[in-house]
Amino acid sequence: MIIFKRINKLNKEVNFKAKIGFVPTMGSLHKGHISLINLSKKYCEKTLVSIFINPSQFNSSSDLKNYPKNLKKDIHILKKLKVDYLLMPNVNEIYKSKKSMKIKLNKKDKIMCSIYRPGHFEGVLAVINQFLLKLKPKYIFLGEKDFQQIFLIKKFIKKKFKTKVYACPIIRDNNNVALSSRNILLNKKDVKKSSFIANLLLKFKNNLKKNINFKKNLNNFFYKINSITNIKVEYLEIRNKKNLSKIYNKNNFKIFLAYYNKKIRLIDNY
Ligand code: AMP
Repeated sequence: MIIFKRINKLNKEVNFKAKIGFVPTMGSLHKGHISLINLSKKYCEKTLVSIFINPSQFNSSSDLKNYPKNLKKDIHILKKLKVDYLLMPNVNEIYKSKKSMKIKLNKKDKIMCSIYRPGHFEGVLAVINQFLLKLKPKYIFLGEKDFQQIFLIKKFIKKKFKTKVYACPIIRDNNNVALSSRNILLNKKDVKKSSFIANLLLKFKNNLKKNINFKKNLNNFFYKINSITNIKVEYLEIRNKKNLSKIYNKNNFKIFLAYYNKKIRLIDNY
């Protein structure tokens, strides 16, 4: 694996005319990231992973400061997976001006996470924009765990770049909890609660699949989760998975949940 800190150097050494798969991450790698890397390795000639904790997508400086970091372990994992290239740029390498750190969202995209994390997706789109302007991967691999993120990135890329987006399914642990770098901040008891919530969500989805009128129980479901000690639901919504509108049927809906488990903000969808 070749490790790059400078994009110029990477562009000199990597032939972007080849089928390069790009897997952007913020590090603290887990099986969710690994599944994206394995898909890239399956479909592409070479795989490029980036580890960059993107400051412009954090709307709280303490969240940015406390974001888990595990560089040594990450490099070990990537070497073992036989990843071809790793890019670990610093902030100045990515953003040349303050203006380049945000990309405006359309008004109609201000739903779910973008309401509760103002500026977050603006920062996510900005970093993807910078990566794709500076690198020219044929494919980018993103996880459906961050469903709203992938929805917005797909729309953005389609307008501006030729890179094809691969959406990879959510990887969960044995307790059904969606893997996230933030999970290492949870203790055993917290994980148990998140597992209970994920299983409730799955049950709710199965009920909706049987009969979409079950949606009338959404409020009760919200209160049920919210009444768990130290759990605070931010939003719980059913939306159309194709366009994220509120017009859906039993074949095209998805349930979206964001909640705090003590101080840790988690998202999930089923
Ligand atoms: P992050 O390091 O959290 O920015 O995530 C990097 C990429 O991994 C994003 O495309 C995420 O959607 C994806 N990802 C994170 N967790 C999971 C998971 N549990 N299953 C699948 N993909 C994931």
